[in-house]
Amino acid sequence: MNTLKITNLNVSINGQAILKDFNLTIPKGEVHALMGPNGTGKSTLAKVMAGHEDYTVDSGDIILDGESILGKEPDEISHFGLFLAFQYPMEIPGVSIANFIRAARAARLVEGEELNAVEFYKELYAKMDALKMDRKFTARSLNEGFSGGEKKRCEILQMSMLEPKYCVMDETDSGLDIDALKIVSEGVNHMRAKDRGFLVITHYQRLLDYIVPDTVHVMFDGRIVRSGDAELAKELETKGYDWVQEEFVTATA
Ligand code: ADP
Ligand code: MG
Repeated sequence: MNTLKITNLNVSINGQAILKDFNLTIPKGEVHALMGPNGTGKSTLAKVMAGHEDYTVDSGDIILDGESILGKEPDEISHFGLFLAFQYPMEIPGVSIANFIRAARAARLVEGEELNAVEFYKELYAKMDALKMDRKFTARSLNEGFSGGEKKRCEILQMSMLEPKYCVMDETDSGLDIDALKIVSEGVNHMRAKDRGFLVITHYQRLLDYIVPDTVHVMFDGRIVRSGDAELAKELETKGYDWVQEEFVTATA
């Protein structure tokens, strides 16, 4: 019940199969890393989980705490408690960070409840301070003209303000220098909790030095071909993806 469960998921785009009988279970309280070469379907998985409409789900299911989220609208999925931090965050001109997060928080209140603006800003500023984000960012349009690193910090800020049950982070490390990587990782580690699960998607092992996962999965050609503990990521770092790829090709030949 307390899991994010993906079963036999087959996803295609324009008739081309991308995810092939994909299976993954993330229990609450755990951090799972998903690694793999470019083009294997990692971002596709993340986007399908968030309800992206471009992809066709041919079969399978995505079950969040016992309930299927397939076919639901992105905002419904978000209300369900799944947060996706995008690899390429969208720019939304005219909507400030503060208003965006405030609207998202207000939408989660039960009827009759009101958002306390003073408390909200107190919390927002504390979390921005922790991510070393300048307070003037609150007034800026969401992601507009942000550097890669600023966009990623902003994603983590939203994630920490929305307190989701499951967090999916797609290559949050890309575009971050080492200092930003440490700050962002700290933010994520701070959110680790027994009632929250994480899927951390990354191409490089580097991020996993800071966010140490419970389990590492290696994806190749639309499916997970190997799972292990944090050591697996280190092995990949030295041996490269060709190693898993060769094993996979040999095994399926
Ligand atoms: P990864 O994140 O592992 O690098 P992606 O999920 O981005 O991989 O892509 C997997 C495959 O699906 C690639 O071959 C990519 O070209 C294709 N693909 C992903 N999104 C689209 C799209 N919107 N239109 C066409 N092809 C796509
Ligand atoms: Mg990707």
